[in-house]
Order: sequence, then C-alpha cells, then structure tokens
Amino acid sequence: MSTRMLQQVIRSIPTSDGGGVKLRRSLGQKAGLRLDPFLMLDEFSSENADDYIAGFPDHPHRGFETVTYMLDGHMLHQDHLGNQGDLKSGGAQWMTAGRGIIHSEMPRQESGRMRGFQLWVNLPAREKMKPAAYRDIRPEEIPTLNLPNGGQVRIIAGSAELDGKVTQGPIHGLSTEPLFMDVRLPAGGHFTHPVTQGHNAFVYPYEGRVAIGPQTEQRALESQAVGVLSEGDHVEISAGDEDAAFLILAARPLREPVVQYGPFVMNTREEIEQAIADYQNGQLV
Ligand code: FE
Repeated sequence: MSTRMLQQVIRSIPTSDGGGVKLRRSLGQKAGLRLDPFLMLDEFSSENADDYIAGFPDHPHRGFETVTYMLDGHMLHQDHLGNQGDLKSGGAQWMTAGRGIIHSEMPRQESGRMRGFQLWVNLPAREKMKPAAYRDIRPEEIPTLNLPNGGQVRIIAGSAELDGKVTQGPIHGLSTEPLFMDVRLPAGGHFTHPVTQGHNAFVYPYEGRVAIGPQTEQRALESQAVGVLSEGDHVEISAGDEDAAFLILAARPLREPVVQYGPFVMNTREEIEQAIADYQNGQLV
C-alpha cells in the first residue's frame, strides 16, 4: 500500500469564457499546464446573474470530451445532433466531441446562485474522429453514499470503493478509465480511497481546505486549487477545521502529443489546420 502525496499545486486564476461567463481556471490556464489526459478544469460560482447570464452560445469542439458537473443552478444544453439536456443542480453531462460537435449551454435562471465545473478530458488518437456522443446524467442517477463520519460521496465516473463495497457511477467503460468523485467531509473528517496505480490524479477543494497524505506527513491544499498527486495506490484526505468539499479526479494518461487550438485538441498541427478548415467549410460535424 502506497499513499499518494501532494506533489504540485496549481492555483486557479479568474478568467472568463463563452459569452463572458466569469470562472476560475486551474488546469489549462496556460499551454502545457495540464495533467494528461485532463486538459482543463473550470469552476464557475456566482450569486450574481451578470457573471453567468451570457452563457456559452454556439461553439464547436473536436478531439476530446467535455464534462459539466452542476452543483447549483440550471442550464440548457443544445447541440447539432438535436440533443437537449436540462442540466440541474446535482446533475452532469458527459459529451464526447469526437470528430465534431457544435453546442450551446445557456442559463435557464435569471437570478440566484450558479455553481459547477467543466472538465475537459482528452481522447486517444484513435478515438478523436469518432462520432460525437452526448450523455445527460440526472442528479438521481449519480449514486450518493454516506460516510460513517457524516460525510458524503457522489460518484460520477468510475467506481467508489467504501468498506469493501463497490458502487459504479453512471460513466464507465471509457478508454481513459476516469474516476470522478465529489466528496464532502465534516470538519476534521478523514477519507481514504483507492486510486488506480499508474493513473494521473488530482484533488480540487472547492469549499474549505484539506490536507493530503498520511496523518504524520500531511500537506495542506487550499480551496480552488488543483493538487496533483504523486504515484501510489490510494489517497488519504482530511478536512481542516471547517467542513470541506472537493473533487477527486484520476484517469489513465494517454502519453500522446497534444496540439490545441481553442476548442480543438488534436495530436498534430496538420490535424488542427484540418479542424479549422472543416469548421470554416461547415464540415466539422
Ligand atoms: Fe463547449
């Protein structure tokens, strides 16, 4: 048994995207600041409609997957395939752009809190040009498990293993084998979970702060920062003197070249030029 330690901290920075939605970007804030196969992580959180009302009007993607996890709020997803997804508090959507998708995500609320995440997960070269696919995950489809310490675990992708009991999340069977958990701990609470050896992994606290590692060797990780984990087969996380909530993400690295131009992520410059040309010619999708 080897515990994963906190190896690197990537603080999020404020930025905006889409029609002008204010958000905090950690992974993907500059070229090369990624954790294979994770390309980008954005957190949006605001009580102020001006920060989100412009939404994300029609835009393209090619070559990877976008995952939206909504904590609070209501968004409507629409794409060129005719998919419509109502993204509500506690729900998620897993969209495989593959060879191309054109979609929009627009708020369906004009006031109140909107809070959630968008994660970009790369696809292996052989899957970058597969047909686009879309999966809407309603809140009740995401298993919510109670911890003995009063904490709670939601499992969105991969499997949770608690006290020898395995609970599968709604997303599984992908070639990057992602683990995506949302964990809430009471002040001082402790959480240990297996993370597949060889997979890249990180923790992202979004409420409170946490400490990572065995109790004798913990390192603190502040809120709204990616904590990249070292190699190992499990992670140990403790909440500080306040309640804490955090995401745990892990996946099999692709170890392939990444060439990104905005919403297109391919392996070579030529493939990016092709994506731009296809989009301009109306042949992306
Ligand atoms: Fe998008």
